[in-house]
Amino acid sequence: MSTDTALLILGGGCAGLSLAMQLAALGRDCPRTVIIEPRTEYANDRTWCFWGSAAAPLADLSCHQWSTMMVRAGRRITFVDCAATPYRMIAAADFYAAALRAIAGNARITLAAGERVTAAPLKQDARWQVTTNRTSYAATTVIDTRPGPPAQQGGATLWQSFSGIEIDCDEAVFDPACVDLMDFSLADPDRIQFTYVLPLSAQRALIEVTVFDPMPLSAADLATSLEQAVDARVHGLPYQLRRSEQGILPMGSVPTGAPHDPTYVHAGLGNGGARPSSGYAFQRIQRWAGQCAARIAAGLPLQGHVADPFLLQAMDQLFLSVLQSQPASAPALFVALFGQRDGARVLRFLSDEGSPADYLGLIAALPARPFLQQIPATLQRVLRQRRAAAA
Ligand SMILES: Cc1cc2nc3c(=O)[nH]c(=O)nc-3n(C[C@H](O)[C@H](O)[C@H](O)COP(=O)(O)OP(=O)(O)OC[C@H]3O[C@@H](n4cnc5c(N)ncnc54)[C@H](O)[C@@H]3O)c2cc1C
Repeated sequence: MSTDTALLILGGGCAGLSLAMQLAALGRDCPRTVIIEPRTEYANDRTWCFWGSAAAPLADLSCHQWSTMMVRAGRRITFVDCAATPYRMIAAADFYAAALRAIAGNARITLAAGERVTAAPLKQDARWQVTTNRTSYAATTVIDTRPGPPAQQGGATLWQSFSGIEIDCDEAVFDPACVDLMDFSLADPDRIQFTYVLPLSAQRALIEVTVFDPMPLSAADLATSLEQAVDARVHGLPYQLRRSEQGILPMGSVPTGAPHDPTYVHAGLGNGGARPSSGYAFQRIQRWAGQCAARIAAGLPLQGHVADPFLLQAMDQLFLSVLQSQPASAPALFVALFGQRDGARVLRFLSDEGSPADYLGLIAALPARPFLQQIPATLQRVLRQRRAAAA
């Protein structure tokens, strides 16, 4: 006998739980919902950062925020003032706890923890049949936020692979006022590599090594670079490891668009959740969750992540094409991008809030030649992607 429900959410990670929080706020108007999630316990497995004012979704969960950030390439250093939309950090533990509280507060939502979808969902008599390791469900609608296929070369224009550790150093070595967003000091000439440092106090920081490359890299691949990056910060001083985090995010070429069956929608990182040029996904997922819950409340068909406007897609793809074809130019490009007079421009662009005037300002700040060379191939690629998404 299968459990009958109105809505099944496959995956209780960032996207699944963000939607659950929005649905919980609907009170009695929330459809009967089951979230299927393999984990039985949520660990503090990551931090989410984004630029946002106090009014940004879930900004109240921020455990840290910074008003200044730095990008460094060789001797060129640029500081970005982001006081108007601080760079905020949410600890996964706080996000998961808030989501679990919201779910517990609405009896119409059930978290089926310790359950994993084990077979491809099937539609029979207008109901989706979903089998897990423990039981089976029948649902009118499904939102699938499970991760896509494993990262592999060709699956994205570039992969953003990163590995980091949060440490307590015995002495004060960090500047808690300034995030090192991209430090190319330890750059590898064959790939785009930088260090990212989130200083939580003068003695505590999350230090990550990030690589943008057509080939996805594991934490083991990045281990030596991470060791060097940490050494460069702590100068040989003793430190204690608090936790580690790693990930591989897609940058470009992720299919988005209208679902083939409006009763089965994909969402999350691998389904249009990640911004192609940055891999940032948290705020896009929050916006999607808010819109999706509003549609559910209004009785409208479900919606996955809406494809970005053509101009934004073209800008992202152009930038990625230049990075892909000329990786050695990346440090100088990022310094130029963040070093322009109106620093807020690039932050709006990265936060999906840029205007055409912002796009023009960004283009003007960058060297023309490599971008002009990539325009024909980029336009072809974007048009191909849009046709594929609309099919
Ligand atoms: C370490 C790390 C740090 C990041 N930092 C940032 C950041 O600072 N800013 C930003 O914007 N983005 C960041 N991201 C990117 C993005 O925001 C996250 O990856 C986010 O968690 C994506 O949400 P999601 O729901 O798509 O995937 P997840 O949160 O990974 O959720 C997917 C869920 O599916 C479940 N699942 C898997 N298999 C099954 C199955 N068979 N059946 C049912 N469920 C299943 C998983 O257990 C998981 O809970 C980061 C990513 C990582 C990995």
